Amino acid sequence: MVTGLIYLDNQATTQIDPVVLEAMLPYFGQHYGNPGSINHAYGWQAEAAVKQSREILAGAINCTKEEIVFTSGATEANNLAIKGVAEAYFSKGRHIITVATEHKAVLDPCKYLESLGFEITIVPVQPDGLIDLILLEKSLRPDTILVSVMAANNEIGVLQPLENIGDICRRHEVLFHSDGAQAIGKIPLDVDRMKIDLLSMTAHKIHGPKGIGALYVRRRDPRVSLASQIQGGGQERGMRSGTLSPPLIVGFAKAVEMGLESMAEEKARLEGLRDRLWDKLKALPGISLNGHPGRRLAGNLNISIEGVDGSALLLGLQSVIALSSGSACSSMDTSPSHVLKALGHSDKLARASLRFGMGRFNTVEEIDRTAEVVTGTVEALRRLKPMKT
Ligand SMILES: *Cc1c(COP(=O)(O)O)cnc(C)c1O
Repeated sequence: MVTGLIYLDNQATTQIDPVVLEAMLPYFGQHYGNPGSINHAYGWQAEAAVKQSREILAGAINCTKEEIVFTSGATEANNLAIKGVAEAYFSKGRHIITVATEHKAVLDPCKYLESLGFEITIVPVQPDGLIDLILLEKSLRPDTILVSVMAANNEIGVLQPLENIGDICRRHEVLFHSDGAQAIGKIPLDVDRMKIDLLSMTAHKIHGPKGIGALYVRRRDPRVSLASQIQGGGQERGMRSGTLSPPLIVGFAKAVEMGLESMAEEKARLEGLRDRLWDKLKALPGISLNGHPGRRLAGNLNISIEGVDGSALLLGLQSVIALSSGSACSSMDTSPSHVLKALGHSDKLARASLRFGMGRFNTVEEIDRTAEVVTGTVEALRRLKPMKT
């Protein structure tokens, strides 16, 4: 751990919970069998651990364990869902619908398919980040094969109305995929109630290990066909070959289990921290909240501050607080966040934005210190360069 640095980047990744790590360790050590080895006890033991983990995950989203396909994370799950459906259904249609605020792990596979001749409709969002359901329904065509809408946004925390989207898709007999990377273990998910056909998940946003995730693939009403994107040993019923990692899978299941167990109280606690931070910051002149004020993840606060240079602000904060402007996943490039642009922000305002991501290990003291430092830094920057409007 970096001493003294306050970690508020929990939408980028999270600290592994010591309980999760503890559960994983035996499978890095003495229980090293390959779950695919059916001829000896090493394999049986590894397979038993994988099976139990699969059951936990299936229970978490209300599906069967045969509908869980392990992947390396949500990026791979999104790629498998989108390209796998495109390849399996292209004779039925070549039109896919997604949303402007999706993660790059959804937008980029769609862009790739566009280069192969598929047509992609990117539905805009309203200024609060929510999708317009009427517009979504109007975008459906007879040749639409897939709608992909995320559950919870990684930058602005906005929760899309999955149940309504699922209703629309089912009525039009179009498959519904959702990127649930920020949702699993944080908000209730039920693939039957929400009529979700494919759901991407990952462990490392909920205090689990990096490098493991899963795709839920519906097996009945309707049965989803999926073209595998990685061929080989035929693991995961041929949908994703490659030796499974029991330690990562056990850690993933443990993280989800812990998320479910503490969901209600952790939601209340994180909302308390988030509202405390916002109450302390909202007096700053020119500050505004990004995303719907109510329909959002408990641990997410995304703000813009007019008249402040975003990079100078981050530079001023980085010795005290670990956080991101926009999305950490695209921090390699310096272009402003496509999510904030989709809300209608100018480049300049999108750059003058901060994402506070709160998690299990953040405290009230850290939030108070954060508010103090942010306020002090903004005021110092404004003293240097008076605000122009
Ligand atoms: C983190 C994240 C991803 C990528 O997940 P990985 O497991 O890191 O590949 C995809 N979508 C969303 C919404 C995310 O927050």
